[in-house]
Amino acid sequence: MSQSLLYHAFGVRGYRYVSTRFERGEMIVHVELPRESLRCAACGSAKVHVNEKFLRQWRSVPVGSKPVFIEMNVPKVECQSCGTRRRVEIAFADQRRRHTRSFERYVIELLTFMTPIDVSRHLGISWDLANDIQKRRLQRRFAKPKLKQLRRIAIDEIHLGKRHRFITLVLDLDTGAVVFVCQGKGADALKPFWKRLKASGAKIQAVATDMSPAFRSAVLDHLPKAALVFDRFHIMKLLNEKLTELRRQLYREAEGPLGKDVLKGIRWLLLKNRENLDPSKDEHRRLEEALQLNRPLAIAYYLKDDLRRFWEQEDFVAAFEFLDDWCARAQASRIRILQKFANTLLGHRSGLLAWYQHPISTGPLEGVNNKIKLLQRRAYGYRDLELFRLRIYSLHETRFELVG
Ligand SMILES: [Zn+2]
Repeated sequence: MSQSLLYHAFGVRGYRYVSTRFERGEMIVHVELPRESLRCAACGSAKVHVNEKFLRQWRSVPVGSKPVFIEMNVPKVECQSCGTRRRVEIAFADQRRRHTRSFERYVIELLTFMTPIDVSRHLGISWDLANDIQKRRLQRRFAKPKLKQLRRIAIDEIHLGKRHRFITLVLDLDTGAVVFVCQGKGADALKPFWKRLKASGAKIQAVATDMSPAFRSAVLDHLPKAALVFDRFHIMKLLNEKLTELRRQLYREAEGPLGKDVLKGIRWLLLKNRENLDPSKDEHRRLEEALQLNRPLAIAYYLKDDLRRFWEQEDFVAAFEFLDDWCARAQASRIRILQKFANTLLGHRSGLLAWYQHPISTGPLEGVNNKIKLLQRRAYGYRDLELFRLRIYSLHETRFELVG
């Protein structure tokens, strides 16, 4: 094998090719370090004396489906300049690794469109090794995400079940990259983020969050110049919860089994958007009938359906008027739950209207959320928390589809 092939195929340069042999379906390329290339690993001196040699192998990139190993007797040398006795450094592999750098690059390339499980099967390596290579690459790349370019961000927390409970995420809305992941929720979880953000000198223009007081005051404290935009999906979800609460209350107050049955049957229909009602299941008719029997519920339902139009107004002024009008109607309904909700909206008015200057939401985090749950289901999550966190940072550049 020529020196050139050794280099271009296997990334091994500066070593002399000795022989190739085939064992158990593997190709083993034996190389050696020319005597004149021996250097002291400590001071770099060429005045060294070879003490002993250790036979070592490194996995390299395969030829087709055939695994390839580079094999070499690694000399341990004694330096005549500084007295150090140490093994010489290997140019084609990192210390303490049993694979070459070119193999590592190859695995990383494969990992951009295959999962670690696929890669480990394809290359016949352990899942741990594929993961380890990935982890080291992700650490190099994402250990400290760059925040300087951030302009518009979304903040949200997601619930990952009993074991991990909550994690809080910050998403760069312009690139789709997760720029901060932290276990826990609320204002405390964000503290390290504010610190890093301040150090980065980023100029944040707008932040999308839900209406929770924790996020609200945290953003006001740390980014007083940024526009705070309350996420439309969280607001609609909150109103849906109010509707469920109202239905439950009406159910308790309903007299006779007939009144109760009607309310029971429409539990989920109330939460659907009108255009999503299923005609084949007669959902429109069932909902209408129930609403006719329950005036308060009908009022609440139509108000809910109407609030979505807040985000479809012509401009800021129209939206301003719409919000006032909607809240006035909610107040006039005399339904306590709706009146309270209207007060909440009015208390968050500027954050609602800010949408007309910065039409952003935490919606993109919803997609990230789903991907994280898939990652978690694939057992990345509980084996190695650090890797899980790094994988979240790299989600936006994963080219393969994550499927359950
Ligand atoms: Zn030396």
